[in-house]
Amino acid sequence: MNENLSPPIQPWDSHNRKLVANVAPPDWKNPTPASRYNLVVIGGGTAGLVTAVGAAGLGAKVALVEKHFMGGDCLNVGCVPSKALIRAARAVASVREAGEYGITIPPGATVDFGRVMQRMRQLRADISPHDSAQRFTDLGVDVFLGAGRFTGPDAVMVGGQTLRFSKAVIATGARAAAPPIPGLADVPYLTNETLFSLTELPKRLGIIGAGPIGCEMAQSFARFGSEVYLVETGHGVLAREDRDAAQIVQTAMERDGVRILCCGKDLKLTRDPAGVRLRVDSHGQGFEVVVDQLLVAAGRAPNVEGLGLETVGVEAGKKGVKVNDRLQTTNSRIYACGDICSPFQFTHAADFMARLVIQNALFKGRARASSLIIPWATYTSPEVAHVGLYEKDAPAKGIELDTFTQELNQVDRAILDGETEGFVRVHVRKGTDEIVGATVVAAHAGDLIGELTLAMKGRLGLKTIGGTIHPYPTQAEAIRKTGDLYNRTRLTPLVKSLMQRWLAWQR
Ligand SMILES: Cc1cc2nc3c(=O)[nH]c(=O)nc-3n(C[C@H](O)[C@H](O)[C@H](O)COP(=O)(O)OP(=O)(O)OC[C@H]3O[C@@H](n4cnc5c(N)ncnc54)[C@H](O)[C@@H]3O)c2cc1C
Repeated sequence: MNENLSPPIQPWDSHNRKLVANVAPPDWKNPTPASRYNLVVIGGGTAGLVTAVGAAGLGAKVALVEKHFMGGDCLNVGCVPSKALIRAARAVASVREAGEYGITIPPGATVDFGRVMQRMRQLRADISPHDSAQRFTDLGVDVFLGAGRFTGPDAVMVGGQTLRFSKAVIATGARAAAPPIPGLADVPYLTNETLFSLTELPKRLGIIGAGPIGCEMAQSFARFGSEVYLVETGHGVLAREDRDAAQIVQTAMERDGVRILCCGKDLKLTRDPAGVRLRVDSHGQGFEVVVDQLLVAAGRAPNVEGLGLETVGVEAGKKGVKVNDRLQTTNSRIYACGDICSPFQFTHAADFMARLVIQNALFKGRARASSLIIPWATYTSPEVAHVGLYEKDAPAKGIELDTFTQELNQVDRAILDGETEGFVRVHVRKGTDEIVGATVVAAHAGDLIGELTLAMKGRLGLKTIGGTIHPYPTQAEAIRKTGDLYNRTRLTPLVKSLMQRWLAWQR
């Protein structure tokens, strides 16, 4: 069973009908191809859309080919629906925690999962005109709906039509990987492609993979009222993040009721009349449960199949299409961007890689992917956001660090908000104030990390952040306070004694 390859969104209610009418209009007629395009883009997710519209805006003749839904994962089965659910789950948490703020909620407050999902479908449909086939046509892009594949050195075939190109871009994204777990192929399971089509809250939900998607959904569904079992082979959640940052999230998830089965070994899945039976050893102890639904969120597989890459000499492997630092594939006329070729599988990364491809493919630019400073965030409660270096990676890069950490429990606004779990941590190059990395754990860490990303991009040091007035009281003051911590280290004994002498003389 492979639920990943067929489009899961069905036009069964007015919201989905609106969505489909925008992103995969059933009556769409592909245009007559131009004799030759400056750029043919395969894939209409963020990477493909930004490439196509940016290039067309600069006067290029552009064709965009999309086989399922314009907007790709982000709009249809990724960021947008997941963040709509997270928002609803936060509302549930606010109601449950209302007592802490002196508010009594009369008994009987319940979660209407059907309405939560309906709200998500409505918001997704409301956002969809932005990515619609018609909008891109109006912006000067020739939109072809259908699967694209290379058929010759300068040719892409879609729906029986041939599109000739001077340059091409592969932006076909990625899908949920099916890890080699005994029994997985024999049991029904959800991926991000089908999760958002649920209409009933699973009483028991198993989730495999405690990365960002697994954690975000585990916490949300636990807040909605599912019994959630989160299985992870590694130690703890969010393997990429600093351990103390991940531990804060893990504790919060456990408090919300998520049962985390980490250091999981010998996971086995079997069919059960009530759903899926899941057996796993966690920390050496056997654990067994039957779940009504199982979500697999254990990594992503690049969409390289059926593209005819061999026809055009484009090399690809398990990590996707091989590209150099200028995002050029092994065929110098063909570029790639987004999840298909990037270790940074985020919408904003796809967006900025696309901008880089436009420069390099159309204007012989020399922009490098390695120069992009890419932050990211996981939208649990609290959120974890990061940019640049982690402390653990610094030795391998030969960089020595000074680190400044400001706990949120010393920040007035965080105290007033009841959101004291977390910190802002900034790494600078030793002996300087040059910011080389930062981690934020906070209710809205994804918003806070932007300031530190700007500082890195604009080469503004931590000293400048310390001297920048932030409104009081805000949680962003935690960032300014890391600047204060840095400034205090500049107060050497010599400087201090000179100042004391000056002040004594002034008395
Ligand atoms: C549940 C979930 C939550 C996420 N949340 C966030 C988040 O909060 N923030 C964030 O930054 N990122 C998030 N992401 C990641 C984000 O969705 C991706 O990084 C982003 O969608 C990548 O864009 P892309 O254009 O590279 O690929 P995609 O969005 O996958 O688009 C690729 C497109 O190519 C099409 N295609 C494939 N093969 C062909 C072909 N042969 N011919 C024509 N078309 C083809 C596909 O149908 C698809 O529409 C999330 C992902 C998931 C799954």
